Amino acid sequence: MTTQYIGRFAPSPSGPLHFGSLVAALGSYLQAKSQQGQWLVRIEDLDPPREIVGASDLIIETLENYGFEWDGEIVYQSQRHDLYQSQIDQWIKQCNAYFCQCTRKQIKADGGFYLGRCKHKQLSEENASVRLVMQHPIESFSDIKHGTIQIPSQLAQEDFIIKRRDGLFAYNLAVVLDDIEQGITEVVRGADLIEPTGRQISLYRQLGKKEVSYLHLPLAVDDSGNKLSKQNYAPAIDNADPKPTLLAALQFLGFSLPKDIETATLNEIFQWAIKNWQLKQLPTGLEITTPFSKPAI
Ligand code: GLU
Repeated sequence: MTTQYIGRFAPSPSGPLHFGSLVAALGSYLQAKSQQGQWLVRIEDLDPPREIVGASDLIIETLENYGFEWDGEIVYQSQRHDLYQSQIDQWIKQCNAYFCQCTRKQIKADGGFYLGRCKHKQLSEENASVRLVMQHPIESFSDIKHGTIQIPSQLAQEDFIIKRRDGLFAYNLAVVLDDIEQGITEVVRGADLIEPTGRQISLYRQLGKKEVSYLHLPLAVDDSGNKLSKQNYAPAIDNADPKPTLLAALQFLGFSLPKDIETATLNEIFQWAIKNWQLKQLPTGLEITTPFSKPAI
């Protein structure tokens, strides 16, 4: 029996959708829909201090205006803290995780990597982060477009944080628990998330689950090589006139567009793109400069 493809787009509501996040939405959508799969949307609102009021709704509205159709209900990580906490409690009880009070300064003084100073200290949870005891270090993984990707050994070996000292759940933990719970079979996202992939696979191993497959899309960068991100104030994409930006995102993903596509409806454009999507058209580089990095004047 073959498993049905289930993909997802998982934006953090730290600002409106920008060109880079549109590329991630589109790439994951085409990869899912070209395999008759499902495409889920999950809002990763794990970090309230970095969120902007109204950004979740705006992201959803933009996806709708651009013509994306998601399957099922939208899931919000802010409503799933019990799932994350109960896994942490279980790992602490089994001595697979522990409390740590090391500061960034301490870790920097140790050479930039956490050396396990708190591992055997039996600290209490007060003013402490929670770290996973690394039992499954991942030093390479296979990306379906880019092949084997190496991860620096010291990074792979680190007991990384699964809950922060300020009480917020770590992205790696939440993403893996949610992807498992939602039955995701493949993760398609920007190449800025290549590095954490190793840690995410270690979490699958720790949980005794088979990891998803991974496809990392080229990252949209500005003229100076900086990633387009909400933190860098990348401009929001045009919500009122989606077609030009949608076509630009398709070109970014390696499509050569037929001339008459200019007159097609959004729905026709999506149908055409789903039919013609092929992994081999994707550019091989991991970073591509885009003119969408500057606010239109
Ligand atoms: N929430 C992450 C972001 O917006 C993406 C997470 C993922 O796709 O794994 O950068």
